[in-house]
Amino acid sequence: MENRGKIGPVVSGCNESGTCPNSLGGVSGLRRRIEILLEEEGLAAWTSKMLPVPALARHAFRAAAAECPNACSQPQIKDFGVIQQSLPGKGGGACTNCGLCVKACRENGITLNGKGPSINFGLCARCGACVKACPAGALRIEKKGFSVFIGGRLGRHPRLGARMIEITDEEGVLRALRAVIKAYIREGRPGERFGDLADRLGLGRLREEIEEALSRAAE
Ligand code: SF4
Ligand code: SF4
Ligand code: SF4
Repeated sequence: MENRGKIGPVVSGCNESGTCPNSLGGVSGLRRRIEILLEEEGLAAWTSKMLPVPALARHAFRAAAAECPNACSQPQIKDFGVIQQSLPGKGGGACTNCGLCVKACRENGITLNGKGPSINFGLCARCGACVKACPAGALRIEKKGFSVFIGGRLGRHPRLGARMIEITDEEGVLRALRAVIKAYIREGRPGERFGDLADRLGLGRLREEIEEALSRAAE
């Protein structure tokens, strides 16, 4: 499918109906902010200028946000992906040893040791299901936010994106995005897609750009 006009970025999400029971909260506001940021940075015009004519739909920069770690919008295979996270921790309530959290955890990440639940964070997918399942308030959401991935793609040389940030807030997501888009526009070569730039510069270099942007914001 040819496109001789602007190759606009594509930003997708999940849970369009708003009824998914796994959702940790809507991300339509974040999606819109991602679109606005990409417009502000002039990505569509830059992409059209740099790519060969005719540019194809596959040349579009792709971003996706998912409302829970099930990641139905496939953020791990996008140029920029965001997955909402809910990190569990001990709550103030007394554990009754009912076992509902153990049943709710699809990762086998919880054991009961007589004094309450013990979470194996090496297995935990941060879905928050155990917290929802606990009737006693013995578990709570310790931290909520988003993991950020970059450099994922399908096509001839498929690759999963690399996790650049474990967990951050919406502002952190947008700072990370702005940092990588600025690097793309500054250093991208004619016809070079974002994933190819990530290969050429190295994900470590893009990670540094993101970390610098986050630390500047924290000053
Ligand atoms: S990613 Fe999670 S919230 Fe979004 S549709 Fe899939 S299961 Fe539902
Ligand atoms: S947050 Fe999800 S994956 Fe992690 S321990 Fe709770 S139920 Fe298991
Ligand atoms: S933490 Fe909550 S759900 Fe898990 S065993 Fe204790 S009371 Fe039950």
